[in-house]
Amino acid sequence: MFEAKSHRFLVPFNGGFRVAKSRTKPPKKSAKKNNDAAGWEADLETQSTKLGDSQHRLYSRGTNAVLVILQALDAAGKDGTIRHVFRQVNPCGIQVASFKAPTPLETAHDFLWRTTPHLPAHGHLSVFNRSYYEEVLVVRVHPEFLAAQKLPDAPSGEFWKERFSVINAHERNLANQGTVILKFWLNVSKKEQRERLLARVDDPEKRWKFRMQDLDERDRWDDYLTAYEACLNATSRPWAPWYAIPADDKHFARWQVAKLVNDAFGQVELDFPQPTKEVMAELDVARARLTKE
Ligand code: ATP
Ligand code: MG
Repeated sequence: MFEAKSHRFLVPFNGGFRVAKSRTKPPKKSAKKNNDAAGWEADLETQSTKLGDSQHRLYSRGTNAVLVILQALDAAGKDGTIRHVFRQVNPCGIQVASFKAPTPLETAHDFLWRTTPHLPAHGHLSVFNRSYYEEVLVVRVHPEFLAAQKLPDAPSGEFWKERFSVINAHERNLANQGTVILKFWLNVSKKEQRERLLARVDDPEKRWKFRMQDLDERDRWDDYLTAYEACLNATSRPWAPWYAIPADDKHFARWQVAKLVNDAFGQVELDFPQPTKEVMAELDVARARLTKE
């Protein structure tokens, strides 16, 4: 089973993660040369090409799947990260699913129902743009949303703990069966979010993205960070790690996500499958038939 290696942005498994200590700006020092926008962009090209090759190999073996989950506050850059990190992956081998406010049919089911059909089959890569984690984030900030779920019992004090343990069991089950799970929280600062929301107000090409509701959610900033801290601490596990990615610089965030996905691929067996003796014999027959034509 996949196990996360230590990394400076890995959310530890001991509950010691503190949002207040988590960076929103790229680190000043890095082992990587060219620690600037141009350097990250140049290496992103290398990383995304490598990722395309790895997915091809993953498909050839068909023994593992990869699930990437992205969570963040509004305008943190989830869409751009997906667009750039996975730009070299064969569209046949990747599925991206975005989860917005649930429909009545979705809330009438258990909270893992709507995401389950989008989980990756072996050989595939799925990206969740938001996910079942909204059920312990936005819903925790707005417990009034639970009314739509018509739960048989009123939520008790253990309610969120129970949801965390359901999520952990779900992810453990997926990991046991060969899914590599990587979860990224794009950590944007309140100041940077203001700039990006203002750009959505002022830039004619971005206005379509603006929603007044984003300002109401922004007013609940501290509540969201409290919910994120609890969630990341309760659900970062070696087989399904969370990474808190500094997201004030989009170039850095995209590069860092691509690098971490590649590092995880590096831990999975990706050699093209070797034919057995029987298959080799069959290939000899096939070659002979084709060359005779
Ligand atoms: P951007 O970052 O560009 O704003 P987005 O992912 O926020 O993109 P939107 O259409 O703006 O996309 O918002 C989706 C909304 O759906 C979010 O406010 C999110 O909290 C909400 N949502 C997702 N899942 C749930 C859920 N299970 N319950 C309630 N709300 C949810
Ligand atoms: Mg939004």
